[in-house]
Amino acid sequence: MCGVVGVYHVDPQISPRLAYYALFSLQHRGQESAGIAAFDSGLKHKKGMGLVTEVFSDEDFDALAGNSVIGHVRYSTTGLSRVENAQPFVVQSKAGSIAVAHNGNLVNYAQLRNELENEGRVFTTDSDTEVIAQLLSKFLLKTEDVVDALVMLNNILIGSYTLTMMIDDVVIGYRDPVGFKPLCIGEVDDGFVICSESCAVDAIGGKFLRDIKPGEAVIIKKGKVEFVQIVEPKRMAACIFEYIYFARPDSIIDGVSVYDARTEMGKVLARESPVEADYVSAVPDSGITAAIGYASESKLPYMESLIKNRYVGRTFIMPVQTLREASVRLKVNVVRGNVRDKRIVLIDDSIVRGTTSKRIIEMIKKAGAKEVHMRIGSPPIIAPCYFGIDMKTREELIAANYSVEEIGKLLGADSLAYLSLEGLLKAIRKAGGGEDYCLACLTERYPVPVPGEIYDSL
Ligand code: SF4
Repeated sequence: MCGVVGVYHVDPQISPRLAYYALFSLQHRGQESAGIAAFDSGLKHKKGMGLVTEVFSDEDFDALAGNSVIGHVRYSTTGLSRVENAQPFVVQSKAGSIAVAHNGNLVNYAQLRNELENEGRVFTTDSDTEVIAQLLSKFLLKTEDVVDALVMLNNILIGSYTLTMMIDDVVIGYRDPVGFKPLCIGEVDDGFVICSESCAVDAIGGKFLRDIKPGEAVIIKKGKVEFVQIVEPKRMAACIFEYIYFARPDSIIDGVSVYDARTEMGKVLARESPVEADYVSAVPDSGITAAIGYASESKLPYMESLIKNRYVGRTFIMPVQTLREASVRLKVNVVRGNVRDKRIVLIDDSIVRGTTSKRIIEMIKKAGAKEVHMRIGSPPIIAPCYFGIDMKTREELIAANYSVEEIGKLLGADSLAYLSLEGLLKAIRKAGGGEDYCLACLTERYPVPVPGEIYDSL
């Protein structure tokens, strides 16, 4: 998970501010670091650890003035959590000033880095985005044509790479050939914004133009927008978890409203796994939209059992159990009067390790709930994601190691049911979606080759 932004505006004072507001509305995609790079007569940038509001102050916008700007919010998957790995990555080369912001993860990162190091290139970080920036600078020495350089880049990268880039004052957005991660473009008065999700276009008062297609680049040169299909995609494999969890529900991705998709998932889940209960509730915030769907389909009332503290930043890993429990209570607390003596259907979007679900069920039961029936708005996660989501090994995935019944017992739930894979796809179709998604963490079939895993080119 990361968020990327690219902006062109005729007023160089406005561009960095638009990028800031767009990043602010993509904050859910990464809270670890934020950065903005701008091109005026030269390239300048600022990046730092923390939230967008913590990294930038008013004075920064004057220093970052420039018509062309890109930005990034980071959630680390490859590379450690430190400021050197914050993005955009900036490379000064004979080919020009290059800045790259990346959402995704390269499967062949180690091999590419090795090859570049053997050619004498020096790396300053352990992030795969630096590999992309170095490759781009290498290819731009071979060709002055940006499109040719993107073709070369595309021929060599394996994995997921939705990018915003700047080569001097040219702003580029690119989505990899299977379209793992979303990217769209919107228009504002006298300018354009390229961004991960349409909610960022809304936030800056822009008009949504369209999604960028898999394998397609959008190039903004001196205010003129050009769309170029860099490679014809063999298949599409947009990450299904954007609809289940990652994206903001007010975003529309590839023509599908995330809110509608999530509500439908809840409705299908209610039909597949009904249960006698007093009311439906959600694990906030990620389970709320599916819970509303479940409640409407099951004709049960929707009520809150848990209240989330919206101001919790990072919580430290607590060394002892009592403090660990306290750290969950800091994030969510139980509405005691609602849960006492009640049979509750509790909806969450997914279960990764199961530790948070277990603590939440414990809290609700301690507060006097009679029964807690857990219902999950996605199928079990049984395989790692190699494409930019922090689910790296089978050992950490509870559903890769236990049956649904066993998981229910481990969590302390009175019953547990997941949405079926067919149900998930049915819900997406009902919301206007197609057929071709990445489902690898649910099916163990990967849409691009990953060493040691089953490659499913269809
Ligand atoms: S493996 Fe799962 S989380 Fe990763 S891109 Fe595919 S659907 Fe998304």
